[in-house]
Order: sequence, then structure tokens, then C-alpha cells
Amino acid sequence: MGEGERETWTTEEFGSSHAGAVGVLLADGTVPAPVVFLNSSGSDSRSVSEWTIYDGEPHGGPRAAALRGVCSCAWTGPGHTIDWDEIADREAEVAGGGLASACYGDWDTHIGEVARWTRLTRRLVRKRPVRRSSTKAVTVWRKRRRCSG
Ligand SMILES: [Zn+2]
Repeated sequence: MGEGERETWTTEEFGSSHAGAVGVLLADGTVPAPVVFLNSSGSDSRSVSEWTIYDGEPHGGPRAAALRGVCSCAWTGPGHTIDWDEIADREAEVAGGGLASACYGDWDTHIGEVARWTRLTRRLVRKRPVRRSSTKAVTVWRKRRRCSG
């Protein structure tokens, strides 16, 4: 199992910790294994997970039911169902290109959320001493109140 070769998207900010790609789902909701190709002598092999390989044709992978954005951080986007009737005899890469870019859009949104979260965390870390002192102030106030009452 594991992952085969496929095109990935990375950002300068997050590098390989958030590398996105087009993921494939089969009709039963499972993720297919990479398709292994042997070179002519059989001495070398390559495993490929590129979504266009899952077209159900001979020597390819099982036919994909849906595409979704995936990320190296384990995030997965919503599935985009593939209409194979619409694709018909056209090249999957061309016909499914719209779905692939929808996956990219989902991943791009994910990266936006990650970036926002990262900025928020940095801000909270800087604010921590301030929060600690305000907790102390509340404790002191409660104690005083107990004494007087
Ligand atoms: Zn991610």
C-alpha cells in the first residue's frame, strides 16, 4: 500500500507538511492502492497514484468513483463524483480536469484555514503572560470577598 507517485501541490509557507494532491475514492468509499508498473525487463517498478490512472481500463487502476483533495497532514476534502458517461471516450485528464481543479480549490481553502490557525496560535502564544496575570487578579478578588463575607 502506501502512496505512489503523483502530482502534489505545496506552498512556500508549509512545504511538505501540507502537500496536497488529488485523491481517489472507489465506489465502496475505499482508497485504491497505487498501481505498479514494471519496466520492460521487470527489474524496476514504479508505483503511481495519479488520479488519471484509475480509469478502469486494462493495465490501469480500478475505476475511480470520486475525486477529493487530500493533504499530507491527513486532511481530506469532500468527494467530487465522477460522471463517466460524460467523460465517455475522452481522455480522463481532460474530461476530469474540472473535478481535479475543484479538489485543488478545496485544498487551497484548507491551506487558508491552516494559515489562519497558525497565525492565531502565534498570537495566543504571545498573549499568554497577559492571560495568566488576569487569572491571578480574579483569584485575589475572590479571596478578598470570602474574607469580608
Ligand atoms: Zn494539510
